[in-house]
Amino acid sequence: MLSAMQRLNEFHFYSFWYVFRDPTPNLSADTLPISAAFMCYFSPASMSKALQSCTKPLKDNSSSQLCFVLHLPPFSGGDSSSTTTGSASPVPNSYDSLEGGSYPGTYFTQLLINIQCYVYSAFWRHLKNLTQPILRPDPSSNLTFLLPHISTQPQSQMCSAGSYPFGTCNFNVSLFISRVLQSTVCRHAQSASLSAEAGLQDRLLPLTRRVQPNWLSAFPFPNMSQLSAALGGLSGVPELEVEALRPVNLLQERNLLPHQPLDAPEPNLSADLKKANCSPDTFRCTLTNIPQTQALLNKARLPLGLLLHPFRDLAQLPVITSNTIVRCRSCRTYINPFVSFLDQRRWKCNLCYRVNDVPDEFMYNPVTRSYGEPHKRPEVQNSTVEFIASSDYMLRPPQPAVYLFVLDVSHNAVEGGYLNVFCHTLLENLDKMPGDTRTRVGFITFNSTIHFYNLHESLSQPQMLVVSDIDDIFIPTHDSLLVNLKESRVLVRVLLTSLHSMFSQTRETHSALGPALQAAYKLTSPTGGRVSVFQTQLPTLGPGLLQSREDPNQRSSTKGVQHLGPATDFYKKLALDCSGQQIGVDLFLLSSQYSDLASLACMSKFSAGSIFYYPSLHHVHNPAQLDKFQKDLERYLTRKIGFEAVMRIRCTKGLSIHTFHGNFFVRSTDLLSLANINPDSGFAVQMSIEESLADTSLACFQSALLYTSSKGKRRIRVHTLCLPVVSQLSDVYAGADVQAITCLLANMAIDRSISSSLSDARDALVNAVVDSLSAYKNTVSNIQQSGLIAPAALCLFPLYVLALLKQKALRMGTSTKLDERVFAMCEFKSQPLQQIMHAVHPDLYRLDTMSDQGALHLNDCIVPQPHLLHLTAEKLTREGAFLMDCGSVFYLWIGKCCNDVFIRDVLGCPNHASIPPSMVSEAQTFIRHNVTYLPLCVTQDDATAKTSFFQHLVEDRSESALSYYEFLLHIQQQMSK
Ligand SMILES: [Zn+2]
Repeated sequence: MLSAMQRLNEFHFYSFWYVFRDPTPNLSADTLPISAAFMCYFSPASMSKALQSCTKPLKDNSSSQLCFVLHLPPFSGGDSSSTTTGSASPVPNSYDSLEGGSYPGTYFTQLLINIQCYVYSAFWRHLKNLTQPILRPDPSSNLTFLLPHISTQPQSQMCSAGSYPFGTCNFNVSLFISRVLQSTVCRHAQSASLSAEAGLQDRLLPLTRRVQPNWLSAFPFPNMSQLSAALGGLSGVPELEVEALRPVNLLQERNLLPHQPLDAPEPNLSADLKKANCSPDTFRCTLTNIPQTQALLNKARLPLGLLLHPFRDLAQLPVITSNTIVRCRSCRTYINPFVSFLDQRRWKCNLCYRVNDVPDEFMYNPVTRSYGEPHKRPEVQNSTVEFIASSDYMLRPPQPAVYLFVLDVSHNAVEGGYLNVFCHTLLENLDKMPGDTRTRVGFITFNSTIHFYNLHESLSQPQMLVVSDIDDIFIPTHDSLLVNLKESRVLVRVLLTSLHSMFSQTRETHSALGPALQAAYKLTSPTGGRVSVFQTQLPTLGPGLLQSREDPNQRSSTKGVQHLGPATDFYKKLALDCSGQQIGVDLFLLSSQYSDLASLACMSKFSAGSIFYYPSLHHVHNPAQLDKFQKDLERYLTRKIGFEAVMRIRCTKGLSIHTFHGNFFVRSTDLLSLANINPDSGFAVQMSIEESLADTSLACFQSALLYTSSKGKRRIRVHTLCLPVVSQLSDVYAGADVQAITCLLANMAIDRSISSSLSDARDALVNAVVDSLSAYKNTVSNIQQSGLIAPAALCLFPLYVLALLKQKALRMGTSTKLDERVFAMCEFKSQPLQQIMHAVHPDLYRLDTMSDQGALHLNDCIVPQPHLLHLTAEKLTREGAFLMDCGSVFYLWIGKCCNDVFIRDVLGCPNHASIPPSMVSEAQTFIRHNVTYLPLCVTQDDATAKTSFFQHLVEDRSESALSYYEFLLHIQQQMSK
């Protein structure tokens, strides 16, 4: 600490901050004040000089601006409120969030960081507005830079009520939103090239500005790490584990949310192992400290399981081509960073402990091109790798990419407008679909009959073949119904251009979906592939026909919900047949009426497909949803795909995997059959501890996904996760990953609501909280005080469970359409963790007061870091603007008295009253450079968006559900029983 103070002394650290008042509303963008805020370094001697420059009168507009000077006394102790004005204080602690721990007494560090950020941001604005910089950043002269056109006014005028301290906030907000988008985009797992930071940054360029690195380099601390290094000796990080075990009285501590979105807990491993470990975005365990025995796990009353996102898009992936893929001879584990080398010739498996030979080929390291360093091979250095597999890994030659589209062309379908969008989108993305010269496509359309299309290259027009015998469907010709895309491209284009008009006058209202699916199965059976089904109503004809099972009066029932399971096993059986022939079926349900998704979803669940649902898609009534459909479809068509895949998860001897969650078919006890795999799918598994792990200090998990790439290569993607084994109950709690626990419980609750009942599932969730907190209280905490005590690691657990209970999938007493509920259930079962968590507990930020305080410096960009807000209406103010990030949708809530400048900068409207109801689309232009589509709903007058926004405020009481505080009392009451 002392050394830090000395360093600060040397800097003569005074800082000045200038803030402009709102520009008058009629001021055009061109005449806006140059800079909203900046800081500079001064020596005391140069201060008067600086002030002189500052007091030069403004050339023009001086009446419309004011600024003030903020002194930050260099050593005012740890009091962060010692600055002259609250609203302008740059001090709120952002360091916690940067380094993941609290740093008592490091006020100066924070100060430095904040000031650094200000300087950077000042530079931006400076550079943006000056044709030639008038002052040079020169640390040696202390006076680093000044802006022209500054005036000073008495402090009493600064930041008058309602004023808006950041005149050019637009850029801050957009940058921030783009950062949120960026993380969301990564969650959405965009194709590798797009999610690569640089590529994405380019796309977001209009929203961001770059700092000239040569300007920055002149500063004493160019970045955070160097800053920390320079201030060395300040570390003193409290042990993470100690913090994770801190008893929290939930009834008293109300501000539990971290400032920034919660990160996965870090396993307590050596630095080397930590470095080699699998990313938590790919592989997460509910307990980052694995209990030694099942008895210990039982004591903790926490679920043990894994959350996987195995095929997610990666910017970097080591791909290994080798004649020998080195695996354990006993348990078939792939060699990985956590095996041990007994010597250069032998390695010991970390899962079954068998000692294996190192093959000769493995002695050569292709990266360093040297011999005799097996431990330096990429497979031993990286916990995520992909192998190019040999013919040993094939049952038949790798299949080509095969895409069959099955399209509803009934009156209902055409009228809603999806067909048009589908044809356009596919036309545009025909060349971007993953594949090679062997790629094949085909089309089936259906209403009361089934239509096939002969697209043979020799034809001048696509030839339509109609089969009306839907009870015993047959394929009219095996020739040219699935054609080589390259050869028949012209005909495919002709078909897509004419399809909509062919059916635009149709009066056919029936839907023979079952027969259409049977036809699709027959057509793709010889090769396998992907079948994409577009359905807009309840199937009414032929095998697989369904009846309406929903009673609208029961939508808000508090007693129970019926018909969550399928009405028929037709779709499941067909899906299993498909799975056997390596056919994955994806379902797009585009319907405002009940379509019995509970039955239809089976075709995707068991064939490892994806399910999409657009409950009110209509080109006139709901263009926004049509837009979303179009963007989702674009992503769907162009995202990576793997064919004829299987996935196996292995774990350290003694651990056993018993229940799987996701869309797949379990072929043998631990082998998941995945006809298709896509980068947006997530999986979960439950585990138990069969034998004591007392003999080992580490437990490992390995998933191996064997698939055929769209270019016909057999590949194996392997992820390995390593976690410590513990014998103390307190350590089990300390390592609890509350998000992973929540997601696993959500999966279990969905199963339970179908196999038993919704109320049972809900009770089980509440019991999970009651049991774990009781167990903690009785065994570990030793705190006798009254109240509801949780270890810090689990302090968000009750909140997340309450949020789960309020989700569409699991709620009761709130009107919920059956299909929407079932879809929400499907999402829980098939999405990766981050996506689920955003839906369950969205991130809420206030935007209009956002500043550079604690901003991060990423890729030459300064990204503001506003704090997360609790999801309660208490946090909303009429003056504020709030962004809610729900993962797949954003809500922007603008208060009635929100500052006009903000509204104009962000939404392009002069004031609140002028925000048009159709803001949805206009706001979208704001994020149009984003690569994925995330609708931004401005909850202005849009009743649906408003309801939805408020339903996400899970801490508040609703007509049928408890507030967070009431829920805590309920838990406490249950615990005392
Ligand atoms: Zn082994």
